[in-house]
Amino acid sequence: MHSLVYVIIPSTTTDIFATVEYLLAGSEQNPTKEYKKFTVPCVCINSIAQRETYQQFEKSEEGQELSAILQDARRRKDRATEEVILVKRFRIIHALEREHPMYMKPDPECEYCQGTGKDTDDYDPNGEWDYWEIGGRWNHLFVDTTTITDPKSQELIGNIAYVRDVLTKGTPAVIVTPEGEWHTGPIVFHDELFEPERTEEELQGRVEWKEKAQQMLQEYANEMVVVVDCHS
Ligand SMILES: [Zn+2]
Repeated sequence: MHSLVYVIIPSTTTDIFATVEYLLAGSEQNPTKEYKKFTVPCVCINSIAQRETYQQFEKSEEGQELSAILQDARRRKDRATEEVILVKRFRIIHALEREHPMYMKPDPECEYCQGTGKDTDDYDPNGEWDYWEIGGRWNHLFVDTTTITDPKSQELIGNIAYVRDVLTKGTPAVIVTPEGEWHTGPIVFHDELFEPERTEEELQGRVEWKEKAQQMLQEYANEMVVVVDCHS
C-alpha cells in the first residue's frame, strides 16, 4: 500500500534529503530515543464480517456477474465502468456486512490483540514502511502552491513547500514531525471511492484524524514540508 506522508522539516534545513532520510529512519538511526506508546483499535476489527460477506457475495450469481463485468472493464482500461461496478459491489457487501454478527467486532483469535480489539502502537517511524521516495504517486503535489522555487535537488521540485502554504491541500495519511514522530490516522479502509457509502461510526476515525492533522500542520506552519510516498 502506498501512503502520502508529509515529512515536516525545520525551515532552516540545508540538506533536505538527508534530513528526510534521518527522520524516516526513526529508532534505526536513533536507538536511544524513547517513543511514547498508545492504544489503537486493532486491525482485526470487522475483519471476519468483511471476509465472510465478501466470500459469500463472490460465490453468488450476482457476484459472479459483477466480477465478469469488472474484469472486462479492467482489461479495456475503462476506469469509469470499473468505479461504478466497485461502488455497486461495495454497497451490496456493505449491507450484508452490517447484518453480520461480527460487524465491527474483533477477531477472538487475533494474534495481535487476543480478541480485545485493542492494540498498542508508538510514534517510531522505523518499521512503518519498506521503501519510500520523494513525490512518488503524489509527485508535484505542491507545484501550484509552493513558494520554494529553487530547491537544490531536481526531485524536490513541486514536492516541497512551507506548511502554511499547503494547509488547504487536504489530509495526508501520515505526518512525520521535525522531532521524528510518525503520526497516522486509524486506517479503517483504504478507498476514497467508498467514503460516501460509509456510516458515521465507520468514518469516526477518519474525521478525528483530519482534525488532528490540521492542528499539527497549524502548529508547524512556519516549517517546510516534503511530499513522500511510503510503501508498506
Ligand atoms: Zn486484533
